[in-house]
Amino acid sequence: MTKAKATDFDWPNIGFNYHDLPYSFHAEFKDGHWDEGHLTEDSTITMSEAANVLHYGQEAFEGLKAYRRKDGGVNLFRPDMNAKRMHKSAERLLMEPFPEDRFVQAVKEVVKANQDFVPPYGSGATLYVRPFLIGTGEVIGVHPANQFQFHILVTPVGPYYKGGMQPTAYVTSPYDRAAHGGTGQSKVSGNYASSLLPGSIAHEEGFSDVVYLDPRLHENIEELGGANFFGITKDGKFKTPKSPSILPSITKKSLLKLASDFGMEPEETTISIYDLDQFSEAGAMGTAAVISPVGSITHNGNKHVFYSETKVGPYTQKLYDRLSGIQDGDIKGPDGWQVDVPLD
Ligand SMILES: *Cc1c(COP(=O)(O)O)cnc(C)c1O
Repeated sequence: MTKAKATDFDWPNIGFNYHDLPYSFHAEFKDGHWDEGHLTEDSTITMSEAANVLHYGQEAFEGLKAYRRKDGGVNLFRPDMNAKRMHKSAERLLMEPFPEDRFVQAVKEVVKANQDFVPPYGSGATLYVRPFLIGTGEVIGVHPANQFQFHILVTPVGPYYKGGMQPTAYVTSPYDRAAHGGTGQSKVSGNYASSLLPGSIAHEEGFSDVVYLDPRLHENIEELGGANFFGITKDGKFKTPKSPSILPSITKKSLLKLASDFGMEPEETTISIYDLDQFSEAGAMGTAAVISPVGSITHNGNKHVFYSETKVGPYTQKLYDRLSGIQDGDIKGPDGWQVDVPLD
């Protein structure tokens, strides 16, 4: 495997692909405890053919980014929230969580070790950080592993929108992402395996992604592919679905807070696919794009257009500018949102 060099990259044009960087972080749980963990140049993982993850899917992951600031330093955005969420995902799949404080420390360590690959300020590119936890203990019968590996890979990713934000078209899916009482609240690979087919059908039909409806009634909006949904009502309320089977997005939690700072009343509530007229703007929220404006949603062949199919609405733009300004380190955010990575 050839390791990438920082000079290989044309930063604004790198797209969203995996690049093998010099260092990853790796730790193992065995005999009832986690080892120290260490940086490694080995970007492969070795495990038994009977590892739980290969058969019964004990896998949880996270996604966050390291942002280059104007002063040359590097920030993480609320990494403690990723640590906490991975802890919860691990508990749901009966995996041994990697301790939360060490999670944040390990993210800092691996970002620092690959600091030449944190793209320059202003390029729109960032260093994507992907921590994951797998059950590597051997199983044949269905039971949890007794050995685990926690690994962090990092790879640079380009700006989501090269020419600024663009609204896109979404379509409801006849498939469900997750059941109430299932693993919808956990960031686990199984949810994604089952989403590949609905996603691919939507792409073939010319849509950018899927709107999942609630698994019971197929009436209320759950989420959009790998992002949470919001709508802004005509009287300026910021609404986002409340459901036991959606993934609690950190971007959503942050936008709920910023919306209320802007005087928009935030509300987590049921949102019917038949009640989209209440909204003047809509969007998808997640680490990858921060906000993806939703231009339209097609349901049963009927297309509902929100603000515009080509232009970004004013509230969406304002929320995006504030949150991405905080993430890039240009605007001071609430306490604890901006975490410096010591580079020395
Ligand atoms: C990761 C993820 C999100 C977005 O969460 P963020 O913490 O905002 O990145 C939304 N939905 C699903 C299904 C996800 O896996």
